[in-house]
Amino acid sequence: MEVAVIGGGAAGMTAASRIKAINPGWRVVVFEKSQFVSHAPCGIPFYVSGFVEQFKDLCTYSVDFFRSEREIDVRTNTKVVEVGENYLIAENIEKSYEYEWDKLLFATGAKADFLGVEGENLEGVFHVDVENAQKIKKNVLKAENIVIVGSGYIGVEMTEAVLRLGKRPTVIEIQERPLPEYDAEIAAILKVEMEKYVNLKLSETVVAFEGKDKVEKLITNKNEYKCDLAILAVGMRPNSEIAKKIVKLGKKNAIKTDSRMRTSLENVFAAGDCAEVINIVTGKPDWIPLAAPANKTGYVAGVNMAGKDLEYPGSLKSQITSFFELEIGKVGLSEHEAIKEGFETVSAFVTSRTAARYLPDGLIHLKVVADRSGKLLGFQAIGKGVIARIYAASALLYNKCNIKDLFFTDFPYYPPISRVWDPLVVAARNLFRKVGLP
Ligand SMILES: Cc1cc2nc3c(=O)[nH]c(=O)nc-3n(C[C@H](O)[C@H](O)[C@H](O)COP(=O)(O)OP(=O)(O)OC[C@H]3O[C@@H](n4cnc5c(N)ncnc54)[C@H](O)[C@@H]3O)c2cc1C
Repeated sequence: MEVAVIGGGAAGMTAASRIKAINPGWRVVVFEKSQFVSHAPCGIPFYVSGFVEQFKDLCTYSVDFFRSEREIDVRTNTKVVEVGENYLIAENIEKSYEYEWDKLLFATGAKADFLGVEGENLEGVFHVDVENAQKIKKNVLKAENIVIVGSGYIGVEMTEAVLRLGKRPTVIEIQERPLPEYDAEIAAILKVEMEKYVNLKLSETVVAFEGKDKVEKLITNKNEYKCDLAILAVGMRPNSEIAKKIVKLGKKNAIKTDSRMRTSLENVFAAGDCAEVINIVTGKPDWIPLAAPANKTGYVAGVNMAGKDLEYPGSLKSQITSFFELEIGKVGLSEHEAIKEGFETVSAFVTSRTAARYLPDGLIHLKVVADRSGKLLGFQAIGKGVIARIYAASALLYNKCNIKDLFFTDFPYYPPISRVWDPLVVAARNLFRKVGLP
């Protein structure tokens, strides 16, 4: 059996490893256009800030490990340029060749979005991705006027990375708040914190970059900024270009898949950021480009490609980030997302201490969204102790729980780090009133 995997990131290497573990006799070839496999784009901000010294340290396993320990035929610096039914064409520096496969996995990930404005290709303008990480790091150290465009979680993490190198960037965001996926109550707290350190410009749209050989100026609809380094974190899109010739695309042009990660063509699978999944809260197909779902959809694709049976139940878009001491997290839908999905919502926003009254502590701000029947739809939190609440919330949403389940879940209490009435429980009690519970 000849199995081809296109893309050696989280999804591709997990799937390849599963297939070899189940069927050691099968040949599994991974085509990876970069020199790295099993890399962690999530670590880029920490590489730029200097927490991680060498880029190769972001790779969970080396190419040699996969070749010798797992007997996977890994072909790095090899780009797949065309895919047809039962063949693909791969190119490396020496040659272009055809490879015939019996089973194929698309694990090509996502690509950074472009703004589509003049001057975006100038030297000194970088999108945040694996290919640019080393260039960004080199340029940050010598740049004087750094502009970060976009304040989604990648923009926020890159802002902190730049600040840690002693630079004060300007951050430009087209929406009226940072982290626009979150609701205004949560984003407002981050805004206050960011404004202490950076020049945060909200509701501003980049219209062009200018410069002779290199970027010198960034122009928005409201202002002009000196700029010798621009870091663009303006969103991602599925990398499904080579797939669309043979398989159907779905949400946001991600590859359409079923719960076994099968595409519209027999023996062809897709996993990770290039693939569509079911959103567990809405029950609808969605595009959720995050690392944990990428690893798990890779696992499920690998199992099914190997001839066993495993279904992927869907994703919750569970996410955590931080800005210095502020932890920030979200799972499921924010209220504005829920309304857009057609839900009639109720919500509770609570601010709570994170320890017993008699001990030193921090604050957590938490928002819980439910529908009018009491079914939980989403959680957002910012402050201290966020991770514990988002983990708990993820489990509750995965099990399609309601406000009563949230209230009665037995969360542990220990005076220095939690509350006897946990903020999650306080939010549930607030919601009782809104849905007519006693
Ligand atoms: C800066 C940054 C920070 C992030 N932080 C987080 C985080 O904190 N938490 C989180 O959950 N997620 C985070 N993510 C998202 C996470 O990195 C992705 O969800 C995850 O890497 C997806 O894995 P994947 O295998 O689907 O794709 P990728 O890791 O992108 O791997 C796809 C691979 O396919 C290769 N490829 C593409 N086309 C071809 C081709 N034609 N031929 C050969 N090879 C090809 C690419 O070179 C790449 O190596 C972050 C992403 C970025 C960019």
